[in-house]
Amino acid sequence: MSDSQTVMPDPLTETQFKEAFEFVADQVGIPQVLRAEFCKELFSTTKAVIDPRKQTSVVEKYINLFDFRWEEGSRFVSMYHAKSRNPRKQYAELLGNYIIFRAYFIRNFEKHQRTKLVFPYLLLHPFMNESCPVHVGAEYLVLPVDHIYWKQHELVTSVFCRCRHSPVRLKELEKYRKEGVSGYDSPVYDENGRPTGHIHTKLFPIKETPP
Ligand SMILES: [Zn+2]
Repeated sequence: MSDSQTVMPDPLTETQFKEAFEFVADQVGIPQVLRAEFCKELFSTTKAVIDPRKQTSVVEKYINLFDFRWEEGSRFVSMYHAKSRNPRKQYAELLGNYIIFRAYFIRNFEKHQRTKLVFPYLLLHPFMNESCPVHVGAEYLVLPVDHIYWKQHELVTSVFCRCRHSPVRLKELEKYRKEGVSGYDSPVYDENGRPTGHIHTKLFPIKETPP
């Protein structure tokens, strides 16, 4: 989680992590026989502070045990890490991150259910200024927590979706209607795909109808 706004204090539970792991494992074809151990070992890297090196080495160990092919992951690595000297490591890192992002989505969505009396709406934020193929046209969409759109277009069901939700109070919604919400405006990566550190933001109007 590179965006500090997405860091929340509650730890991930093993149940949430397992749900995310199974979702991704089905999608990328991790053999059933490896799953229990793989999941357990990967979950252990999320205790206290996530240790990305340990996480990547766990994923590498398991994906080396079978003929692992993941078309979407290959596309992602070639788009974002084309000049990487160690693409296999990037691939393992990507898969580990995808599972963890998915687990955080599950955790956060459960939390939004619990807090919906105070925060009745969810606002969809794209990741930086990237467009997401799952949420095309839904940038800065605000809908009630229980709106069917959030079920039909869940977050982090693709490695290309790095969107996040923020919970919104009615008062905040009124403000966003008038002023818009702050988001990233211009490219923040250099020609090697690394963050430049320059972040330009501007106000975007919110949307209240699904695309
Ligand atoms: Zn998305």
